[in-house]
Amino acid sequence: MLVLAGLTTLCACTTNYIRPYKELSDPSHEEIASIRLLPWGSYTVVYNSITCEQIGDACGFFRGHAYAHYMLNHALLPPSFYPPLSEKQADCYVAKYGEPSEIKAAVALLLDENREPSLKIHGDPLIRAQNITECAKQSGNWSGN
Ligand SMILES: [Zn+2]
Repeated sequence: MLVLAGLTTLCACTTNYIRPYKELSDPSHEEIASIRLLPWGSYTVVYNSITCEQIGDACGFFRGHAYAHYMLNHALLPPSFYPPLSEKQADCYVAKYGEPSEIKAAVALLLDENREPSLKIHGDPLIRAQNITECAKQSGNWSGN
């Protein structure tokens, strides 16, 4: 009974996966994804559609990461300019509220030493993978082991 109640709660809190409310696909975008202020004062996540085809589900995580900077009220900067703490917070936010399949795909990509070297991944991929896994497990948003 207790186990069932726990599972029900888990389902209820992980159904509202974060999705950037506005996204633009740009095959020449220099990053996997980044958040951008549009001229009329709204925000959008711009992502590289070609890169996203290559990395599959993991793309959803990186789009969520860009959006998390906005959700966490971080100053909007080019991806490589964020301080490590902001990066960690954005990763953790997606690990908590993102879709489990995309989280797992992103962790697998970060841990993959044979991934496409031209992929723009900021920070230490091993540390990011650990942080994401930990945050997802802590918030009950990690599927499997
Ligand atoms: Zn970032």
